Amino acid sequence: MSDAQLSGVAVSPGRASGPVVRVTEPLGEPASTPAPDDLHAEAARIAPAAQAVVSRLEAKAEAATGDAATILSTTAAMAGDPALVSQAEQLVTAQNIPAARAVYEAAGSFTHALATAGGYMAERVRDIEDVRDRIIAELLGVEPPGVPELERPSVLVARDLAPADTAGLDPALVLALATEEGGPTSHTAILARSLGIPAVVAVRGLLSFGAKALAVDGDTGAIEEVDPGAPAVAAVSAGAFDWDGAGRTSDGHLVKVLGNVGAPPDAHAAAEAGAEGVGLFRTEFCYLDAADEPSVEEQRAAYAAVLEPFRGKPVIVRTLDAGADKPLAFLSPEAEPNPALGVRGVRVAFDRPDVLDRQLEAIAGAAADSGADVSVMAPMVATAEEASWFADRVRAAGVARAGVMIEIPAAALTATEVLDAVDFVSVGTNDLAQYTFAADRQLGAVAKLNDPWQPGLLRLIALIGDAARETGKPAGVCGEAAADPLLARVLTGVGVTSLSMNAASVRAVGATLAGASLADCERAAQAALGAPTAAAARTAAKDA
Ligand code: PEP
Ligand code: MG
Repeated sequence: MSDAQLSGVAVSPGRASGPVVRVTEPLGEPASTPAPDDLHAEAARIAPAAQAVVSRLEAKAEAATGDAATILSTTAAMAGDPALVSQAEQLVTAQNIPAARAVYEAAGSFTHALATAGGYMAERVRDIEDVRDRIIAELLGVEPPGVPELERPSVLVARDLAPADTAGLDPALVLALATEEGGPTSHTAILARSLGIPAVVAVRGLLSFGAKALAVDGDTGAIEEVDPGAPAVAAVSAGAFDWDGAGRTSDGHLVKVLGNVGAPPDAHAAAEAGAEGVGLFRTEFCYLDAADEPSVEEQRAAYAAVLEPFRGKPVIVRTLDAGADKPLAFLSPEAEPNPALGVRGVRVAFDRPDVLDRQLEAIAGAAADSGADVSVMAPMVATAEEASWFADRVRAAGVARAGVMIEIPAAALTATEVLDAVDFVSVGTNDLAQYTFAADRQLGAVAKLNDPWQPGLLRLIALIGDAARETGKPAGVCGEAAADPLLARVLTGVGVTSLSMNAASVRAVGATLAGASLADCERAAQAALGAPTAAAARTAAKDA
């Protein structure tokens, strides 16, 4: 590798190049020294800084629509709150501290009071912190943290991005994305793929690389410095695959090829790509920014808009997978030491069955409105007992089929009992890999362990395939593993009955399946299962 090159893990295909825009890191705590020379002049800087933040947010709100516009106007109103400004002004003179520190401390007393009040009030803490950071950045003359406003098509470089930030990216302006952290199955990678933005994660040395313009190769993981004067190059979409749209092997063994969706645009993209239905609708993606629980009517309309392209087709709606890296302001628990091992997915519903029941009511309504053939499944189920609890609630809500995701090794090891309790299962290979290898899916340093070709993971999936054959019930795969065409043959060979993926992979997977018989797939599976390493499994499957 030359000095002008780095490499990472390729997570979203395509090659693009252009000027670099760096996502600003969170501001640290501002210092309480040096004491200002003129306390009154220092205090007088706060109101104009807050006003500048208000004006900028109001301008953005005017340019935005829908929820984004509402959120921006609310944040603007908070930034203009005279109580925050006057408390910070008083702190400057009373404590002899710089304006930035005074804003930090004034905001701290507001957030403390809100957090103590709990409930809806506690949910406002993050909003106040956002406003606080914007005013402090204004006072310090630096960029506020987060994704900056892009004025021209650019390559975005970040330590990591929260799923909420990634979901808000405009593919017309973000040519490519490169992050120093992040793993291949992180939600940031999944969102980049669904937006069609080429992306490379886990690029060691990226933040200190210092290039003004970069080429990012989302197929090989290469990152290369390019001439900042050269014109930006947007990614071209992948080549066409010859596929008739029916998910089956060359000898007619049926394996449905389905889409993973989270919003109306990816539902339309999946339908246009030829997906036979939806294998995973991540409903929490609708609410990453929501401060309050949406009403049943709001949820019903949001889900119906996503289901609309799939009238008469099978759709699996997943109930909210809140927690870990996808906290929802209205649901997620207090800070936990290990959020990925905490109250996440269906575990949230055990504490708040009322939220689950309202969501199920909305899903049943959306199914009727859209005409889609809807099933419902729960995320993060660990035992057959949990599966049975969930299935009872789904049936009570009038939804015909209830399933669960298998993404915890304990559920894979007891797949027969889990299948006995429900109508179907779907394997979430992203989390199943994370929990099997004890390797955080967001962490670049352990990305290799989250490779879906790891024989340890494949052998667990094979157990689930055996349970599906034994019980005669369906077992799909909706993790990122299903999007790899060669791996799709292996999964078919171990008994998986459907594959669900991002729209961009649908045709490649459909065409690759159609090019092999079930016996070919079983041979590829046996070869991969017996391999000692992920690389050997890949090669063995290819050779078989
Ligand atoms: C998975 O874990 O594989 C999965 C599909 O769920 P998510 O990626 O949303 O956690
Ligand atoms: Mg998961």
